[in-house]
Amino acid sequence: MTSSQLHIDLSALSDNYRTLHSLTGQTTKTAAAVKADGYGLGMEAVSSALYKAGCAIFFTAQIDEAISLRAAFRNKGYDGATIAVLEGLRGEDLALYDAHRLTPVINHSGQAEAITAYQRQSGKHLPAILHIDTGMNRLGFGQDSHYLLTSDNNPLKELKLCLVMSHLACADEPENDYNAFQLEQFQQLTAPFAGIPRSLCNSGGIFLPPSYHFDLTRPGIALYGAMPDPATDNKYLKPVVSWHADIVQIRNLKKGECAGYGAMFTADAPTRLATIATGYADGYARALYQPQHNKIAKVEIAGKIVPLAGRVSMDLLIADVTSLSDAELQSADKACLLGSHYGLHEMAADRNTISYEVLTGLGDRLTRLYDGADAS
Ligand SMILES: *Cc1c(COP(=O)(O)O)cnc(C)c1O
Repeated sequence: MTSSQLHIDLSALSDNYRTLHSLTGQTTKTAAAVKADGYGLGMEAVSSALYKAGCAIFFTAQIDEAISLRAAFRNKGYDGATIAVLEGLRGEDLALYDAHRLTPVINHSGQAEAITAYQRQSGKHLPAILHIDTGMNRLGFGQDSHYLLTSDNNPLKELKLCLVMSHLACADEPENDYNAFQLEQFQQLTAPFAGIPRSLCNSGGIFLPPSYHFDLTRPGIALYGAMPDPATDNKYLKPVVSWHADIVQIRNLKKGECAGYGAMFTADAPTRLATIATGYADGYARALYQPQHNKIAKVEIAGKIVPLAGRVSMDLLIADVTSLSDAELQSADKACLLGSHYGLHEMAADRNTISYEVLTGLGDRLTRLYDGADAS
């Protein structure tokens, strides 16, 4: 085990899955976005827990992620899952999609034609998901190409579509009018695909009215414990991750002595510092110590909340533990960096970013420890 660890509560993750599922109607299924190594928490462990909680459809971004997930599921005998790849397919990967039973998301006609050609040549039929762009202008068939889908030599003619989907640009802002605009586009553009299940919502969309939910939702961030809109009260989701690291040294400073790179911290009285084994190489951003902008992250040691003292370095950070008694300090061998004292949204806000970037930036050196009833 490395000196810096993530505790990942798989029971909380599964509870979040069930909660999100219960927020939509009886006929709406709930998939899971597990791209970027399950938002940094370990794709295999989170996907297995979600599979046991009833999830049967998983979205990765890239084919390599999907191939590893299929292998992990195969090892565990989890046969029932659909694994879809969001970024679209490269023609040369079609045999891989076929061999690993992966479902490509088709974003433009070239991809549809590649599948058609493969099917003709191999005599097999591959399921595919159609992505229609409704205003994000990032991936999917846009307004300009939509006519293709309904024309006589429509490139989808020979495809076995199992889902038609789109993605909301502003689902984390429930008041944004763009949501209603995209909903209307989605209804119009999917009309020619009667009988094929439809999916529009990521996490944020689940908290929009039921007219947005259709047949399948695709939450990511909410499964991992963060409300998509940090401004809303979280009465639904349980925290999934906390971050802990070893205290590797204690030092006593006289008034006027400095600490860390740039000598940015100066003791204005006798001060005690704890050096902790996590740094920006682990995803603990340097931006978490910016006294000039009143941004100083908080760390919890022996139940007390204390501030950073000095710049975050690559592998280490320093906290001011002057407020702890000798006994408290002796009892503590670890610091908590992310937890109930300082949650994902607060850490993200102090870094000027979103919880997604905090999670997906969690470094490879961190040992991921899984607890909860579903850990195995
Ligand atoms: C990442 C992603 C999701 C999940 O988004 P969250 O905001 O994390 O819930 C859903 N759909 C698509 C197309 C995505 O790329």
